[in-house]
Formats: sequence, structure tokens, C-alpha cells
Amino acid sequence: MYHRLARWLRMLGYDAVYDQDFVDQDFIQLAKDENRIILTRDEDLKRRAQKLGLQAVTIDAPTIEERLIILQKELGVELALPKKKLPRCTICNSEIRLIDIEEILEQITEQTQLHYKEFWICKNAECSQIYWRGSHWEKMERTLKDCREIIALDKSTNKD
Ligand SMILES: [Zn+2]
Repeated sequence: MYHRLARWLRMLGYDAVYDQDFVDQDFIQLAKDENRIILTRDEDLKRRAQKLGLQAVTIDAPTIEERLIILQKELGVELALPKKKLPRCTICNSEIRLIDIEEILEQITEQTQLHYKEFWICKNAECSQIYWRGSHWEKMERTLKDCREIIALDKSTNKD
């Protein structure tokens, strides 16, 4: 359900676990073991988690923008692509590191080699996903900007 949201959170530099096979008990156990916040649509799961002293947020919104805005309001998630820290791998949630273009020439197209200078690779050897600030990055920045504008507008309207 929230796979896309998990990928967004990783791009924003947050450690976000997603597992489509998880049942309620798995969420609760992982939140306990690793001190994680549960994001769910399920009010019952949220209540159960909160009774156990865990932090949980219900996110019941159809669009990615609305979901991100809820996370900003509820948890202070920063809606900007990270400048100081790096995003995490959107595929596997591992950290990524800078890599020299010479090491990945075979894995990227000539066009990409020509247009981009900085590349990152997932630290997880089984994944090794390569990243660069391409058009997907720009698209994400626009979406995040939209979200920030909606939040700013909300704040100014609520003042009246
Ligand atoms: Zn990865």
C-alpha cells in the first residue's frame, strides 16, 4: 500500500522499511525492536500501537502529495531533497555512497555519462542501484515544492 511513500521517504533521507507481507504484529514488533514509527491507514493498528507506547500515524489520503503533507504536519518530515545527508536507496533502503563514473561506465548510457557528473551507488552489494540527479530528481523537487506551497498556504489561511 505505502510502497511509493516508503520510496519517497528514502529519497528524503529517512530510513523507511516497507514489507508487503507484514501483518499487524510484524509492524508492532519491528517498531518495538528498532524504535520505528508506524505509518498506516488502519486506525485499529494505530490504537493498538499507541496502547503499547509506540508512535503511530494514520495516513489516509489518496495522493502522494497529501500523504507527504500529513507526514510533515505529524512528524516534521522535511519536504526537501536532502542537501547535507544523502537519500537512501529507494529500492532496498540501504545507504548510498558516491561512486566514480569510471567504475560504472558499463551500467549507464552514453547520454547519462555526458549529462551528469555525480553518481551514487547503493552500499548493499546485492542491490548496487546507481543514482544520479536526473529528470526523476527534478520531478520530485517540483512535487516537494508543491507540497511546501500547500502547507504555507494552509498556514496563512488559518491565521485569519
Ligand atoms: Zn539498494
